[in-house]
Amino acid sequence: MAACELGQAGVRTVLIDKAELPRYKVCGGGLVFRGRQLLPEALRQHPSPALQAALEVSCGQINVYNNEYRDRYSAQRSEPLVTMVMRDRFDHALVQHAQGLGVRVITGEAVRRLDRSLDAHGGSVIDLHTDQRRCTARAVIVADGATSPTAKLAGFVDDRQIIPALECEVWVGEADFARLQDDPRFDMDAIPHGYGWSFPKRDHLSIGVALFQKDDGDKTALKQHYQRYLQALGIQEVLRTESHGFVIPVSLRQGSLCQGGVMLVGDAAGTADALTAEGISNAMLTGQQAAQALATSRNARGEVQAATAAARYDAFIDQALRPQLHASARLSKFFYGNTVLRNLLLKQFGQQLADRVADVFMGTKGYPSDVQASIWKRLKGSFGSFGARPQI
Ligand SMILES: Cc1cc2nc3c(=O)[nH]c(=O)nc-3n(C[C@H](O)[C@H](O)[C@H](O)COP(=O)(O)OP(=O)(O)OC[C@H]3O[C@@H](n4cnc5c(N)ncnc54)[C@H](O)[C@@H]3O)c2cc1C
Repeated sequence: MAACELGQAGVRTVLIDKAELPRYKVCGGGLVFRGRQLLPEALRQHPSPALQAALEVSCGQINVYNNEYRDRYSAQRSEPLVTMVMRDRFDHALVQHAQGLGVRVITGEAVRRLDRSLDAHGGSVIDLHTDQRRCTARAVIVADGATSPTAKLAGFVDDRQIIPALECEVWVGEADFARLQDDPRFDMDAIPHGYGWSFPKRDHLSIGVALFQKDDGDKTALKQHYQRYLQALGIQEVLRTESHGFVIPVSLRQGSLCQGGVMLVGDAAGTADALTAEGISNAMLTGQQAAQALATSRNARGEVQAATAAARYDAFIDQALRPQLHASARLSKFFYGNTVLRNLLLKQFGQQLADRVADVFMGTKGYPSDVQASIWKRLKGSFGSFGARPQI
């Protein structure tokens, strides 16, 4: 997204990815509407064949299950609330679009070293080293994901909360697929302190579990929860499974996301939603915003002014994103930390909650700014006084 935006603005840009593209990315591939709307205008108006192939299934509905899989809360929208994508194709379609806009793409080379220095005119520059070459730039947008080695090289402190998840691409029998392909679902019973999901792709399912709170269990716990979840989904016939474990950062780094010409976006910054672990849309948004900040901070010679861009990007993060991510973190703590309260809330307000999450996915509403007061008001209004206010 950053490369597309910079290419569109005519900023000389190099995109470096350690993988050869297309590359597999561990992900449920649920692209929510607010993310889909961020696609570059030209791609949205005239989707390339590569993008069309990447947008596998459009779902106008999501289902949230709770109470031993018995209670279901559905939210429907007339637009594609969630579009199921395979990330290898989706990400590659974006890279190809950027390439078409004049961005130079280097793949199969990891960034190994980052040095800051001054150019012949005394301007600050950054040298990025791969094993094969050195690239010199006035600014670097770091979009290298959850482990973000480049943020480390640039000297950022890592205080993101990181959660583990297990994602499986599962090919099931015809009857199972027919039943589950119209049921994009989030299951609160799949795992304590987290949820399970089943997302329909064109010819298979993405099924997984994510754990949002620290667990005392051993490392095989996710696998066991996953196996139990498969049974709960009533899957009779598994033809093939490709399993992938990975992590999702669900809290934004504190302080500035910019340091000495380096700007962090997406998982490298920690922009996934802490309640849903939905990370694609904010990765797209922050990539776009960092690029716009650079493109609009050029001097008369057309050179980007990294310090001005950093101030613009940080202002956007602090005004538009940080409060929302903070609110989702509070909700997440409540939801996954206190099963009794969560069940109470879902029993009473499950439908409103599913609708609110759908609104967040659509981009029409955010989370309430004072989540704690909002939840407490609802519970109190419903049951009268509980006595002491719970710590959320
Ligand atoms: C199991 C699981 C399920 C998920 N499901 C969903 C979902 O359904 N919907 C959703 O919205 N989000 C989901 N997420 C979150 C989502 O995948 C991430 O938030 C999102 O991919 C972040 O995008 P990114 O561009 O920041 O990083 P990434 O997509 O991880 O891309 C990072 C890129 O950097 C490259 N790279 C890494 N190191 C280097 C280096 N040293 N030099 C050069 N290149 C490098 C990598 O090759 C990669 O291409 C899920 C995550 C997981 C783990």
